[in-house]
Amino acid sequence: MRKLSKILSLALAVMMAAGAQGASLAEDASPSIRIFPVDRATILAGAVVDFKVEVNYSGGTADDVAVTLDGVPAVDVFGAATSEGITPEDGTYAMWEGVTFTRPGAVEVSVSANVNGITTEKTVAYTVLEAGEKKARNVILMIGDGLAQPTRTAARIMSKNLTEGRFNGYLNMDVMDVATLVTTSGIAALVTDSANSASAYATGHKTANNAMGVYTYNPNVDDQVGAKVENIIELAKRAGMSTGIVSTSEITDATPSAMFTHILKRSNMQAIADQMFLEGQRPDVILGGGAWWFWPSTTTGSKRADERDLIADFEGEGYAFVGSATELAAVDTASASRLLGLFNSGNMSPYVDKFIEKSPDILKGFDDQPSLMAMTKAAIDVLSQNEEGFFLMVEGALIDKQEHAMDWERAVVDTIEFDQAVGIAKDFADINDDTLVIVVADHSHSISVYGTIDTSKPGLEGLGVYENAKFPTYADEDGDGFPDVISPDITLAIGWGNHPSYYEDFRYHAVPSAPAVIVDDVAVANANGRAEDALLIAGNLTPEQPQEVHSADDVTLTAYGAGSSYFNKTLTDNTEVFFAMVNALGLNPLEFGK
Ligand SMILES: [Zn+2]
Repeated sequence: MRKLSKILSLALAVMMAAGAQGASLAEDASPSIRIFPVDRATILAGAVVDFKVEVNYSGGTADDVAVTLDGVPAVDVFGAATSEGITPEDGTYAMWEGVTFTRPGAVEVSVSANVNGITTEKTVAYTVLEAGEKKARNVILMIGDGLAQPTRTAARIMSKNLTEGRFNGYLNMDVMDVATLVTTSGIAALVTDSANSASAYATGHKTANNAMGVYTYNPNVDDQVGAKVENIIELAKRAGMSTGIVSTSEITDATPSAMFTHILKRSNMQAIADQMFLEGQRPDVILGGGAWWFWPSTTTGSKRADERDLIADFEGEGYAFVGSATELAAVDTASASRLLGLFNSGNMSPYVDKFIEKSPDILKGFDDQPSLMAMTKAAIDVLSQNEEGFFLMVEGALIDKQEHAMDWERAVVDTIEFDQAVGIAKDFADINDDTLVIVVADHSHSISVYGTIDTSKPGLEGLGVYENAKFPTYADEDGDGFPDVISPDITLAIGWGNHPSYYEDFRYHAVPSAPAVIVDDVAVANANGRAEDALLIAGNLTPEQPQEVHSADDVTLTAYGAGSSYFNKTLTDNTEVFFAMVNALGLNPLEFGK
């Protein structure tokens, strides 16, 4: 094998100069080798990716590192590496930025590294895939954040109810062309967060939690350099399509930003907002919360560290800006081709608070926020003017956030709101049969519907399981799809597989009441706002967790319209959602610009 160019030797020299503090550890340490993309990755032919090889070791010296692709030295395939540096374990890396794999089929990558006289080898295999023939002009990806299957069940019960065991109707997301189960784990942990999982949908590559659009195992280690992979918005833009993101969270939050961003830490929201404006990544329609990342630091409530007025920047690029439901409704969507709407400084409010409780303490002045349906409709109206088609991601973000807070009524009502937005996407697909609608969660939660509660009885007395679980008394007299009363006489008994210690009173909390609060770094059950006869349920999480956490359970995907048959399989890896979209749209980067 040939030695890898001077580039690696250079990095090694730097590393050796940096010190041999690990030398005592390293006498017999053989290196660990990491290759990005990772083993068994599928790569879209022509998509832009960074190819990166890390040789991790502490102390010692590396005198030979060789990288080959199908037996050909990497330098002969991609030229000299474009960057190199030190890994978190004092090893070395080389990266070839912005390369493409063009030939469909299998690729084998081999790395051989000699450190302290010990040779370690690693081989990974990729599949390079070309998109199939174009089937759809538009894709609408609808992500219910944390939309565990029981949340879909609970929403169907709350919205439609049952008579003699049969549902009186189905949700929009229940009536689709095809369903599959989706697995959600990332490359470094069994249980994913929303950054990693949304990134898998957006790029076709899994990464580590907190990272989006970049490969890394260690997003939280400083000075990491992620290996970028191209995302769906970049690809769609290169294809001349319009793109949009809609969410009820801060629009810089993980799920919407994974569609366009490349970042190691999802919490770096100012940088995400700045990336949102970069020409190659900039969505044409942006609707959600998180205005405080767009206001200059001089504006009260801004979270920016600089004077940049990002709203003004967007307006300078021809975006119509709206800040309320009323302003959104007034937009002439037939003439607007670019639209920025920010309806809250932070996350938008749950449906229950926006439209039912309307407590000023919770709305904090944001008393004119649009529904997810209104945002979805406006986005489709603007984007669908492009003859080349559009990609739109719509997120029901607060399903997840309310599940963390174990506030199932708010989570489930937000699921109904999300489902009505699904109905708008399906209506569009019915008129425009060249549209694919995908409804999926990014990960699960440990929520479960296990019976009913007669709330007229105290404490546990009203709990019914099996034959004593009488049907709940939800009604929808006004036909708006939402229950007339959030908490009727008989409501659902809902439990959680993981939780901090908390007081369970089986009651709806009109004013949200956190399950636990942190006292001296330890989560303590919160009695505030809970009934006197509430059960104290002992937590089964580590003591620093004040909220319910994600679970590794598979999630349900339902799809509708052109190209949906891609999901006609029992089990789907989360990365395949990207390829389903690319395949439906016939996105072939090798043909772009031809
Ligand atoms: Zn979450």
